Amino acid sequence: MNIKLQDMTFVFQSMADGILIINQDYTIEFMNDAFIRDFGGCVGEKCHEVIHSSNIVCSHCKVPDVLKGETIHEEVYNSKAKKYFDEIKLPLKSADATTSCLSIYRDITDRKNREEELKSSVKDYKRLFENVGCGVFISSKDGKFLDANHALLNMLGYRTKEEFLEIDIAQDLYLRPEDRSKFQKLVEKEGRVIDHEVDFKRKDGTSISVLLTSQVRYDKDGNVIGYEGINVDQSLRKQMEKEIREGNDFLNNIIQSSPNAIMASDMKGNIMLWNKGAEEVLGYKSGDTIGKLHISKIYPEGMAKKIMQMIRSPEYGGVGILQSYPLVTLREGGEIVEGNLSAALVYDEKGKEIASVGIVVDLKERLDMERRLRETQEQLLQSEKLAAMGRLTSQIAHELNNPLYGIMNTLELLKTEVPPSNKRRKILDMALSETVRLSEMLHKMLSFSKPDQEVRKASDINIVLDEILILHEKQLRENDIQIFSDLSEDLGLVLASKNQLRQVFLNMISNAKDAMQMGGALKVKTYKEKENIVIQISDTGIGIQEKNLEKIFDTFFTTKDSIKGVGLGLSVCYGFIKDHGGDIEVKSKPGSGTTFTVILPKYKQTV
Ligand code: ADP
Repeated sequence: MNIKLQDMTFVFQSMADGILIINQDYTIEFMNDAFIRDFGGCVGEKCHEVIHSSNIVCSHCKVPDVLKGETIHEEVYNSKAKKYFDEIKLPLKSADATTSCLSIYRDITDRKNREEELKSSVKDYKRLFENVGCGVFISSKDGKFLDANHALLNMLGYRTKEEFLEIDIAQDLYLRPEDRSKFQKLVEKEGRVIDHEVDFKRKDGTSISVLLTSQVRYDKDGNVIGYEGINVDQSLRKQMEKEIREGNDFLNNIIQSSPNAIMASDMKGNIMLWNKGAEEVLGYKSGDTIGKLHISKIYPEGMAKKIMQMIRSPEYGGVGILQSYPLVTLREGGEIVEGNLSAALVYDEKGKEIASVGIVVDLKERLDMERRLRETQEQLLQSEKLAAMGRLTSQIAHELNNPLYGIMNTLELLKTEVPPSNKRRKILDMALSETVRLSEMLHKMLSFSKPDQEVRKASDINIVLDEILILHEKQLRENDIQIFSDLSEDLGLVLASKNQLRQVFLNMISNAKDAMQMGGALKVKTYKEKENIVIQISDTGIGIQEKNLEKIFDTFFTTKDSIKGVGLGLSVCYGFIKDHGGDIEVKSKPGSGTTFTVILPKYKQTV
């Protein structure tokens, strides 16, 4: 370039790029304002002093080459200006034929910085791609991986990327190859899929559950060329879920298999848990309680509130706890369940009450057992008393028997001496009949204390009843009592002591007579019923008051005065009949009459 510097000064000054002209011994001949702005310095100084603050010529200096005619183009970083420059050095011939070096410095710092940034972000992405914990991939539409990170290789058991890029995705990766086309359809329809659950297989064939998040890759014309995305191994999560589920199932099984009622409710009283024991004890099915029934429904009115107060109080096992507390709960339908309640409050991590849980132990059986035990103890006590009384009674009866027979004999003897026409004869007859009654009473007392162990034979009840009725017909008729007998013809036999049966029916007929002081009807009926023979003795007498019905078989229970009754008859009857494997029932309506039903097992003849 052959120019006069003075001609160019104006042009150089107007340029945005820095312009520097140096001569052969590196002295600056010209610099424009743009150059001065970046490097400072002034004309006459050495270029290495201005540009590199150095006294010596730079070792890499290309100026000699330029002076020989070369044009040098390079990118340089200047630490003094702290800027990148695109530098062009070219020879400049002046009018006097000397050659100078013209340097043009174009500031490219911004561009360089952008490039650097880009470079580092690509590096970052590369690093991320390689080091991220989940599998990252780029795949082609036709089913090959184009790239994959190490995490994906590890996850699927491949050692090198090369072998992984070789596999056929549908055949070698998907457990069910058709799932790949399903995935493609889905991702191409939506553009992306998030957490799409698929089953892959590892290189060794074992299956692995993966969450696939992916998006479609398009070419510049918008055609699908492949997919990219990440695969997250689900095995650990699934394993944890399985363990949690198993843990839950185990706990649930424990809760469900408890024979006690276990239930929980939120703080509003809505039931959240209702185990099988609760179904059993309280009747409600769990489907009818959870989210449907209010917990207060299983307690008597006002009790639910009281229970919450007790749980919150420190007095029943500590705040938040109610230790085994006796209480009644209500079954579906209102039936009362006697039991014990243990309860506790459940708190969240901030200590806020979130639920209450209760366990009801049904004590019905235990309480029933205790009641039965108490009754048995009372009965035992009673029977001990009775046994003692029985011994005393039998002694007294025995002692009285002999003198009584003496009196009876004497009275019989006197009868022969006092003719029936004699006025005193009636008094004698009365005395005799009273002694007979006394002797019968003594007999009853003896039977009660020492029941005769008589031989049992197959007996016809109809015959026993007939005999009694015939014997007492006259006496009953005198009392205005009509007899109706309805005895079944094919009644069969019972294995029994005739004497004891006689005593039973006699006692019942005698009671019926006592109940019909103003006369009435006595009905005796026998019939067969299944494996039993039934004997009914009914009267139309005064009947038995309801409150007495359950007492009439008790020993010494009588409503008669002390001369007429001792209250032993029915208790002896009951003992005899029970002893024969039978039973006695009574139905009565005060004012209308009474029916005694004796049931005896039919005699089964063994051949
Ligand atoms: P007693 O005849 O000595 O009172 P029982 O044991 O035979 O003793 O009877 C007990 C009680 O049962 C009687 O006192 C009477 O109140 C009642 N009773 C029994 N049979 C009848 C009946 N047929 N009608 C009304 N009351 C009866």
